[in-house]
Amino acid sequence: MKLTSCAVTDIGRKRERNEDQFLLDDERSLFAVADGMGGHLGGEQASQLAVATLSEVLAAASPPAPAVAESLRFAIRQANRRVFEAAQTDFAGAEIGTTTVAMRIVDGRAAIAHVGDSRAYLLRGGTIQQITDDHSFVWEQVRLGLITPEQARRHPHRNWILRSVGHREEVEVDVQEVQLRAGDRLLLCSDGLSGPVDDAELLALAGAGAPDEAAAMLVDLANERGGEDNITVLLVVVEEVAPCA
Ligand code: CA
Repeated sequence: MKLTSCAVTDIGRKRERNEDQFLLDDERSLFAVADGMGGHLGGEQASQLAVATLSEVLAAASPPAPAVAESLRFAIRQANRRVFEAAQTDFAGAEIGTTTVAMRIVDGRAAIAHVGDSRAYLLRGGTIQQITDDHSFVWEQVRLGLITPEQARRHPHRNWILRSVGHREEVEVDVQEVQLRAGDRLLLCSDGLSGPVDDAELLALAGAGAPDEAAAMLVDLANERGGEDNITVLLVVVEEVAPCA
C-alpha cells in the first residue's frame, strides 16, 4: 500500500481562534479532523484532547485489519469521556465538545468513524461521494426530504450539531469501511470547508493534481467565500494497493 497525504488548517477570516485540529500519521496510516466548539478555550481544548486521545489509544503500529473499525470507535468513545470530564473539571460543567472524523487505512481498506458534521469523502474515477452522514439538524431535514442540500447550506441553523464528542457521558459513533483502489482519494474536512464549498467544487479541486496544492486551493476558496469559520482539509491519495499475497 502506498499513500500520499497532506493536511492544512487555517483560522479563516472571521474567527479569533482556530478550534480545528488534525492528526496526520503516515506511519500508522491514521488520520483525523476535529472541530471544537465551546468558546473561550473550551473548543480548542476539546478538539486537541480528542486528537491526542486518538493518537494515544491507537498507538499500535499495525492492528489486525478486522479490528481497525472497532478500535476507531473505541478510541472516539475514550475521547468523548475525556472531553466530558474536562468540561466538568476545567470548564465548570460548560458544554464543550468537538466533532471527530477518524480514518485508518490497513490492508487496502479504509475504516472511518465519526461523530458530528466533519466529513469524509471518497473521490474515485471522476466522482465524489460523501461517506459520512452529518449528525446535524439540517442533514436530518435533508434526509427526510424537507429541504434540499442547497437550502441546508444556507440554513440559519446549519451549525446545529446533534451529536458531539464530549457533550454527554456516552456517545454513539458511526463506523464505515471502504475497499480502496489505486487512484482513490479520501478527503477529511471540517464544515469550514464543506459549508462554503460544494461537492462539485471539492471534486474539481481535490480530484486531481498534487495533494498539497489541492489542499491550499480549497482553503483559498473557502476564504474567498468569506472564511466565516476555521477551515481544515486533509487529503490522502491511494497511490498503490498491494496485490493480495
Ligand atoms: Ca466549524
